[in-house]
Amino acid sequence: MTGWTPIDCHAHTTMSDGELTIPELIDEVRARGVRPSVSDHLSTDVTLSVKSVDAVREYLDALALYDDVAHGGEFCWHDSLWRELPDDLAARFTHRIGSLHAVRVADGIRVSMFQRALPDDLTPVAYMELHLDDLERLAAEMPVDILAHPTLVPMPLRRLPVDEIWTDALEDRMVNALFGAGIAFEISARYRPHERLVRRAHDRGVRLSLGSDGHTRAQVGDLAFPLEMARRVGAEERELFDPFVHGTRAAR
Ligand SMILES: [Zn+2]
Ligand SMILES: [Zn+2]
Repeated sequence: MTGWTPIDCHAHTTMSDGELTIPELIDEVRARGVRPSVSDHLSTDVTLSVKSVDAVREYLDALALYDDVAHGGEFCWHDSLWRELPDDLAARFTHRIGSLHAVRVADGIRVSMFQRALPDDLTPVAYMELHLDDLERLAAEMPVDILAHPTLVPMPLRRLPVDEIWTDALEDRMVNALFGAGIAFEISARYRPHERLVRRAHDRGVRLSLGSDGHTRAQVGDLAFPLEMARRVGAEERELFDPFVHGTRAAR
């Protein structure tokens, strides 16, 4: 195939917690032979982020100066900002990304992916069932195009072998939820999914998306791992998620 250029659907700028300005990100990503998008944190629950409907409007206004760059945004499932967006603003994104940065484990109790320990009475196996419960709710309710970093789990679980965390049953629940909702599976360069799960998603008919989740000059546009993984599971280049072909604005 000729004329195909990969697109980094997930990268951050100084509008949230990234290190590069929009023009710096664009130049850096293009220098790698990759098409850029900007997808900053739009959430009241990320320290450096776009935190209100008015701020989202300003964010989209800033992106509007760059026509040929995809206008994305990363929303936290557990945060309310994505629910408050009026339709006219929602329609201005080329693609929206949903993230499970925290999971509800009991009434009024959430576990963050970035906390050091699980609550004392919660085993990893029990946690993972609750994780998938929330993932299924995200897929059913959240108007997003892509699930970010699908294998991101709380820090204490990241040290465990993959097979102690991800069972066939849990993986099936994930890919069925994504397929049913038409949400793409992100192959993240930052939180790298294991091949078995990516293959399962692809075989189920879930579209794959490439994302650096880059926050620095060294990270943005680096799609070496996601591209290699997509090829390994047999995904065709042109099937990969492209905001301008498959995204919110293209589809709706
Ligand atoms: Zn994230
Ligand atoms: Zn991110």
